Amino acid sequence: MTEPVRDADRVFHNLDGSGDGGLAGARRRGDWDDTRALILRGRDAIQGTVRESGLRGRGGAGFSTGLKWSFMPKEPAPERPHYLIVNADESEPGTCKDREILRHEPHKLIEGTLLAGVGIGAHTAYIYVRGEFEAERRCLEAALTDCYADGLLGPDACGSGYDFEVHVHRGAGAYICGEETGLIESLEGKKGFPRLKPPFPASAGLWGCPTTVNNVETIAVVPTILRRGAPWFGGIGRAQNTGTKLFCVSGHVERPGTVEAAMGIPLRELIEQHAGGVRGGWDNLLAVIPGGSSTKVLPAAACEDLRMDFDGLREAGSALGTAGVIVMDRSTDIVAAIARLSHFYWHESCGQCTPCREGTGWVSRIMDRFVAGAAAPSDLDTLEAICGQIEGHTICALGDAAAWPVQGLLAHFRDELERRVAGGRRPLAA
Ligand code: SF4
Repeated sequence: MTEPVRDADRVFHNLDGSGDGGLAGARRRGDWDDTRALILRGRDAIQGTVRESGLRGRGGAGFSTGLKWSFMPKEPAPERPHYLIVNADESEPGTCKDREILRHEPHKLIEGTLLAGVGIGAHTAYIYVRGEFEAERRCLEAALTDCYADGLLGPDACGSGYDFEVHVHRGAGAYICGEETGLIESLEGKKGFPRLKPPFPASAGLWGCPTTVNNVETIAVVPTILRRGAPWFGGIGRAQNTGTKLFCVSGHVERPGTVEAAMGIPLRELIEQHAGGVRGGWDNLLAVIPGGSSTKVLPAAACEDLRMDFDGLREAGSALGTAGVIVMDRSTDIVAAIARLSHFYWHESCGQCTPCREGTGWVSRIMDRFVAGAAAPSDLDTLEAICGQIEGHTICALGDAAAWPVQGLLAHFRDELERRVAGGRRPLAA
């Protein structure tokens, strides 16, 4: 058992919406407490604290947040203002953590946006909200209205002398706009086509200006890190995998939901202590997709001692991703489950690059043949070859995201795929 996160060490205290999500409730929970003093620490100190805390991006890539901020130019040029973009385009299947922040803890996000803005020298931020999150957008905009009315945002934000504006922008429902450069294109009013990098957004982002794009959860934990200090955050979890983390547990568990736990919590503990256990008991577990649909599926045998952090999952051959944990019991047709994901990535490919545009459709059609028990023996090798030709050969990570679930299936459930070649159609446990 890992040391459980003490209630006092939780960042989020209203994730379930049982308390008041408005400004008064947020203040009672400690949000907006002398934010002026935090702003007056200045850009370098804010950036330094976040870097020392070990915070890594919570949107999937896991890159050091403080390091990312340090890539922004040291001195903003008047004609090239700095921008902060908060990526609230949460669309990864199995992931529903940013949504809870938007609707129940919007002030933590807004305060974090202001402080992160100071940390990168930006005076303007955009929060790009997934198009389907209509109720969440309303919560966020109501909270922003209260912040402006209270002088927390706008000219002289919090009485600090720092001017800061926050705009909300609604997406139109495309998964690819969660990719940071696709998001920037969309925000500029164009199709959400990811850009070739370099240049990276820190040098040429929104309207060609220096831009940092961060995930909602990443930004929402910043005020607490600044208040409680880098050693506090760095003392939770383990080296390179610090702090608490929101885990979304879905699928065949008794109590699906989003919970905050220490980084590195064993998967079994996460499922049994926080999600009521696997339906039918731990021995009924077939497989887990540990970090949102694009991460590689792991069989039950690999789940027993699995540590839920960046390094633990990398060592296990998968990834923490968004920490969207999809649990599948032995009633699952694992081939059909992965085939469904293949269809999703095919549908969401923007079509700019050939390996992704053609490969995702090809993979999806082959996966459908395995589901139907109509695959040819050569389809196994073809599937493997196509995934290898997609992975690492595309403009953005959607190509990898399409390849990895199938590669995970090939690595751990090849026997089941081979059985489908012979015409078998029954799920594994039937
Ligand atoms: Fe578009 Fe796919 Fe290429 Fe990404 S990898 S740019 S989604 S075609």
